[in-house]
Amino acid sequence: MKKLTLVVDMYGCPNRCKHCWLGHMPNRRMDDYTDEFLVEYFKPYFESITYYSWLREPDYCDDYRQRWIRDNEVSVNDKPMRFALASFYRLIRDEEYVRFLKETGVKKVQLTLFGLEDMTNLYIGRKNAYNEILQATDIIISNGIIPRWQAFINEENKYEIVKLLDVIDEQKLYERCESIGGRFKFFVHAGSCDGENAKLYPIRIQKENIPEQLIPYYMGYNEILEEKECVEILSESNDKIVFEPSDDIVLNVSNEMDIYYNYTHMTKPWIIGNALKEDSKELVRRIVEGDTYALNTLRDHSYSELVKKYGDVTSTKVFSLDDYKMYVVNRFLDDISR
Ligand code: SF4
Repeated sequence: MKKLTLVVDMYGCPNRCKHCWLGHMPNRRMDDYTDEFLVEYFKPYFESITYYSWLREPDYCDDYRQRWIRDNEVSVNDKPMRFALASFYRLIRDEEYVRFLKETGVKKVQLTLFGLEDMTNLYIGRKNAYNEILQATDIIISNGIIPRWQAFINEENKYEIVKLLDVIDEQKLYERCESIGGRFKFFVHAGSCDGENAKLYPIRIQKENIPEQLIPYYMGYNEILEEKECVEILSESNDKIVFEPSDDIVLNVSNEMDIYYNYTHMTKPWIIGNALKEDSKELVRRIVEGDTYALNTLRDHSYSELVKKYGDVTSTKVFSLDDYKMYVVNRFLDDISR
């Protein structure tokens, strides 16, 4: 018996971020009984089920208090956790919300920027997003919660990310966090290369172009690789591509009840099946055995084959090796599934 986590897109997201690793999907409120249906559907096969009603924006439903209680109630032999995540959309529209975060033990909240006002608005896909993030930062600090700012860097916004260091100074974020007993954190990275962020491959940051001032803030700077280094490493990898099944299975569930592993974005080649249309026993067998279109297809191919086709031996764009593996895997799956 294995553990299962269900992460369900019951309410959608107000944003359309250009780096969104899940990929953009239409918002659609799912039926209230979805939680019970899914838990009953999977219960016979797993020793525990942890249920999350949000896959994209946390607490993006008006009855977020009731929703959190419900996620706890419907979970089996386990409970959902709070993370350093919150809805900045809700933080500035609903003064009760920050109290809810405190009650549920949230100590830190991560907020995402892409540069200054216009750039951040453009990348989040909403007019006033940048100002909302500044306001949300003030609200949480005033309530004893520490903000953590992350910035996604690419060739288009690299100098604006540098300017965020001035904003952090102007806003006195280190000092204000210290005064409430915490430590403000700012970090920069390029993100994985799936979902919407894969579309930004042409402007992915090149290692030599990361502004020097940002190097101390760059997450795992000493471990990041250039694309040409990834290609060289993977050229030696002739074994077939296998995603090992895990005892802790995490499934993403779309608002149409399509089921996906949480490895990467939610596109057609990665669909395992549909919980509304298919028998649970057969769907769980596929999940546990890895008998899916994407995984079966990949077992016939190696990374050396894929990098020969998709790798750029001259590129200094930055990746972690795992992110680069997923990038070439998705290039391949997209090509053969067109
Ligand atoms: S990154 Fe998060 S907030 Fe942005 S569109 Fe995706 S799910 Fe929504």
